[in-house]
Amino acid sequence: FQAEIQQLLRILVHSLYTQKEIFLRELISNASDALNRVQFEMLTNADVLDPDAELGIWIAVDKDARTLTITDTGIGMDRDELIDNLGTIAQSGAARFLQRLQDAAPDSAARMTDLIGQFGVGFYSVFMVAERVRVVSRSARPDATAWAWTSDGSTTYTIEPADKATRGTEITVFLKEDAEEFLRPYRLREVIKTHSDFIPFPIRLDGEIVNQRTAIWRRPAAELSEDDYRSFYNQLTLDFQDPLLHLHIASDAPVQFYSLLYVPSRANRGILSARTDHGLKLYVRKVLIQQHNKDFLPHYLRFVDGVVDSEDLPLNVARESIQATRMIKRIGASIKGKLLGELEHLAETDPARYLEFWREFGVFLKEGIATEPDDVERLAPLLRFHSTLSDGEQPTVSLRDYVGRMADDQNEIYYVLADDLKSAASSPHLDPFKARGLEVLYMIDTVDSFMLLNLREFDGKRLRNVDDAGLELPQREEADAESDRPALDDDTFEQVRKRFADVLGERVLEVRASQLLTEN
Ligand code: ADP
Repeated sequence: FQAEIQQLLRILVHSLYTQKEIFLRELISNASDALNRVQFEMLTNADVLDPDAELGIWIAVDKDARTLTITDTGIGMDRDELIDNLGTIAQSGAARFLQRLQDAAPDSAARMTDLIGQFGVGFYSVFMVAERVRVVSRSARPDATAWAWTSDGSTTYTIEPADKATRGTEITVFLKEDAEEFLRPYRLREVIKTHSDFIPFPIRLDGEIVNQRTAIWRRPAAELSEDDYRSFYNQLTLDFQDPLLHLHIASDAPVQFYSLLYVPSRANRGILSARTDHGLKLYVRKVLIQQHNKDFLPHYLRFVDGVVDSEDLPLNVARESIQATRMIKRIGASIKGKLLGELEHLAETDPARYLEFWREFGVFLKEGIATEPDDVERLAPLLRFHSTLSDGEQPTVSLRDYVGRMADDQNEIYYVLADDLKSAASSPHLDPFKARGLEVLYMIDTVDSFMLLNLREFDGKRLRNVDDAGLELPQREEADAESDRPALDDDTFEQVRKRFADVLGERVLEVRASQLLTEN
């Protein structure tokens, strides 16, 4: 064992003692991964041990021996794999995990539990409840033999040949005295229901299946409650907050697929619960093929979580295949369209909730305009800004609002670029617009100037920067009266201009006269 494991175990035991139960979630999730992998092997025609064994997870309790046993018929591990996977810290996972904990302020244990699974250190959480663990495993490769790995989590481990006739892994947990609650079937059932209800393989306790298993995305929406959607989200993402919205799609043509997508309520799910990767889970014929598929949705929609499941896709989607690529494009176009449609609907029917979305993910949509020219038309109506006419902290003005209240003789959309709300609002460039009663949008996000490169017009109206040299504003008597004041004669102006240019030097590109400023 490396020193890091020791350190990790100490942290786990000390910070998670109120949440010990998550060890079971981690072991079940490992078993489920192992089942996925063997299922995939069999579909791709590899020769495996026990091809007819039922794919499942069995949990058994021995009250006298004070043990809990978790058995699966998954892919199993040979001697080297046991050593690599359990004996050394899983890749850099633990090191990164520890780093994160050090960086973060002492945070709630709830967040920490979210992290464990994501950093590939889930197995070690078993030592929160175990004084000893024995893992007997037999790899699915037909020529492999069985091995037993045993450890008390404190010093080292042993590995020796074992008897196991069947494929898969059997983990025996010798429970600590203060973890005896996990000998009670009632308690175990509760833990499985809470954390592992949607594991797609049957989890049996005393011979009885505990989890609901159903691929929720394949069920008719009419049968599902908000609660079902919410709890699936929690188990899928380990995000303990409720999602902002969900979208359930079942499509038959042109491509048959199911999808269940979620927009989380927060872009940053807490320091500790940041996702390690993004992408949608891809199932083909109910088999999990990819954990993080990035080909369905454009990069700017990377905050979306969820599942895509299709009967039609080939199993080798991971490899480049023209047929797969074409189908993924079609499914992608469909789910992107529906997702943006859902956002449009939200914006119309529940502006307050849409604003919550916008506050968290608005910059992503702006990035979308900057990076995906094809999506500009669809995204532009979803934008929200502050403006000279909006008040309060919230950006509530849409381009449609703006155009809707433009003056009759106004045919351009004006904006001012600034670093923040305050400097935008106090920009001297706004004077002539205020004097003429013309609304100006504030562009105060870093991404705005990139966005504007692709957002040239809306509804046939050009977007114009208020400091644009060639700007000609609609005539207004009051405002124009002001600007009829005698200007400096050319010579005097040239002296002033030159003085500005000399003093400011390289800090400015150009010093020029404005025809528009009326005050000061
Ligand atoms: P993670 O599952 O996040 O990779 P873990 O510490 O939980 O990290 O497990 C380490 C590795 O041990 C897994 O990646 C997997 O290769 C292996 N493993 C754990 N449990 C099983 C199991 N029941 N069957 C097969 N392999 C397993």
